[in-house]
Amino acid sequence: MKSFRRNKRVASKKQFPEGTINLSQSINTFGIGSMLEVQSQKRKQTRTTSAIVSGLDFWRADNLENIPEPDLCRLLNVEELKSPPSGESADYIPAKRFPRWLECSSCHYLGVIGSQFNEEVDGIPSCSSSACNGWGVPTRLISVCYSPNHSEGHSTSDYHIDDFPWVYWAHKNHEKCSSARIRLKSDGKKTGLDGLVLKCDCGAENTLRGALAADALKNIPCRGNSPWLNAQQSCDKKTRALLRGASNVYFPVTASTISIPPNSSRLVQTLQSLKYKEITAMYLNGKFSSGTVAEMLHDKIAFSSFEKRNNC
Ligand SMILES: [Zn+2]
Ligand SMILES: [Zn+2]
Ligand SMILES: [Zn+2]
Repeated sequence: MKSFRRNKRVASKKQFPEGTINLSQSINTFGIGSMLEVQSQKRKQTRTTSAIVSGLDFWRADNLENIPEPDLCRLLNVEELKSPPSGESADYIPAKRFPRWLECSSCHYLGVIGSQFNEEVDGIPSCSSSACNGWGVPTRLISVCYSPNHSEGHSTSDYHIDDFPWVYWAHKNHEKCSSARIRLKSDGKKTGLDGLVLKCDCGAENTLRGALAADALKNIPCRGNSPWLNAQQSCDKKTRALLRGASNVYFPVTASTISIPPNSSRLVQTLQSLKYKEITAMYLNGKFSSGTVAEMLHDKIAFSSFEKRNNC
């Protein structure tokens, strides 16, 4: 078994907010495609950034430790296994801001960077409303696609995640305006989503009550958004809203194995006793299977005696 080392850092960019997670979390709770929150301090106030862990295409794989498990590679049909970065000098695990839609901490207008918010070098977006000193807080709802009938046979890579359709929801009972500016207001009576009202400057408004119902977004088709890959694909599934921090947003796909250290295998012991150090190292690093090692040895020793000594 591999031991888990602690203190891996997570950040979207070098100057952006960063946090630490341990190796077990980076494989399970905060694996690729999961969302995590990073807290940072600015003017003695805690600010939250929400990000989604990027796919392996964005990792610096050259710096990752190789895990020599040739049998597990064959089982999973992959060429090699890598460990997430670990240790004090570990590289960053790349992540991307998600959800894109933010709420101003002060005036409570909603929007994205480039319109309602300005990007700042420390990664805490500032509100662009005049005379507002607020900053962008991740919105609490997101949308996902789903299959009401799980027997349809979709693989986990067939599902997508996106921002909640804030402009659509604000205008659900009104005609959509051409330049929506929306903000969240409390109705001063109820708590939670039921007590929040989305208001557009055009006069349209709608409460968030019912937004989490399974059919609330039945008219919103999935855009096939995979922000952890910066990709979009066609998708015909239904969408629904979830709370950003809900436990049913992300399910890791894991495989586990019991690994017997290769140093104790009879093949390795025989190779070592025969002083084939180079071949032994290659085998331990997962470069060769026992079959290819046997082929290499064929020219060097009598194969029949090798078989007799290595019944494995
Ligand atoms: Zn503001
Ligand atoms: Zn409007
Ligand atoms: Zn989809």
